[in-house]
Amino acid sequence: MNQVDYLRVSLTDRCNFRCQYCMPEGAELNYLIKPQLLNDEELLTLIKEVFIPVGFTRFRLTGGEPLLRPGVVDLVRAIASLPQTQDIAMTTNGFLLAPIAQNLYDAGLKRINISLDSLDSQIFDAIIGNRGKGLWQQVWQGIQAAYSVGFDPLKLNVVVIPGVNDHEILDLAALTIEKQWHVRFIEFMPIGNGELFSDRGWVASAQLRQTISDRWGLTESQIPGNGPADIFQIPGAKGTLGFISQMSECFCDRCNRMRLSADGWLRPCLLNETGQIDLKTSLRDGVSTSQLQEQVKQLLTIKPEINFKQRDSGTINSYSRTMSQIGG
Ligand code: SAM
Ligand code: SF4
Repeated sequence: MNQVDYLRVSLTDRCNFRCQYCMPEGAELNYLIKPQLLNDEELLTLIKEVFIPVGFTRFRLTGGEPLLRPGVVDLVRAIASLPQTQDIAMTTNGFLLAPIAQNLYDAGLKRINISLDSLDSQIFDAIIGNRGKGLWQQVWQGIQAAYSVGFDPLKLNVVVIPGVNDHEILDLAALTIEKQWHVRFIEFMPIGNGELFSDRGWVASAQLRQTISDRWGLTESQIPGNGPADIFQIPGAKGTLGFISQMSECFCDRCNRMRLSADGWLRPCLLNETGQIDLKTSLRDGVSTSQLQEQVKQLLTIKPEINFKQRDSGTINSYSRTMSQIGG
């Protein structure tokens, strides 16, 4: 059985972008209001007194857009400085990154994933739901800042959408040749975006690998991944290519993570709400952290049975929360 030691922590359900695949325009999103969010003290209590004692040692801050969280650098510092923390990482859209990249790094963040779905600023603007303000450049500066500050590995996440950015696969893959950048192609999932998904569908990782292999060849990477991505490399490239294939393959059996939403729900699976527990309400009601540990331990024991293999019967398609709400 996999050791579940990795917690993805959503710092907010809000975002400064509205990516078509994540927060489609027109979708009503009932944002959390501040009192509903776990505050910093509650979050740190849960990490220190509940998650670490039951074996979690690796944390990823995500959202929504985690850099919108006030005091995010201090939160990083607080988590990174815990002696049991073996790894702290972040997934961000990079828009607010450039000015605080150094501070985040100095606070202890060493690994970062930045979403970059296109190298074309117009396509990028269309994907992020922004009409003509040219935000690509600012994200690119965020990526450059992260690189010069020394984030390693620096990963770029690409959600591939047919007819939108799938013609850029080779250009995006080429980013790994000269620099030690790691591009992760993610299969598009129908979460909270039913209309776009039924219009566009998704591209299987195997097809992307074929396209890349036809151009440069592709070998399985010697650098092991520690997550759901299958890692490959263009021969001679400095960086790697990862393929996250949750639509075409089932990697539930090697799942090593749980998710904590910004309002304090612990979810054992991205797409299956079975078993989730409301840690924030319990904490506020005075339930002791040792009792909460017991609840989390119980969830860990049943986690192997909770997965999204039911997707064959259409579970994912009927899923209405967005990735930004779950904490992607
Ligand atoms: N705002 C940050 C960002 O975009 O990197 C972090 C949160 S976002 C929800 C985390 C990751 O989920 C991003 O890499 C994003 O591309 C991915 N994502 C969001 N919706 C998705 C979907 N429908 N299918 C596949 N990946 C998705
Ligand atoms: Fe925001 Fe990230 Fe979702 Fe895009 S994928 S809307 S950047 S949370």
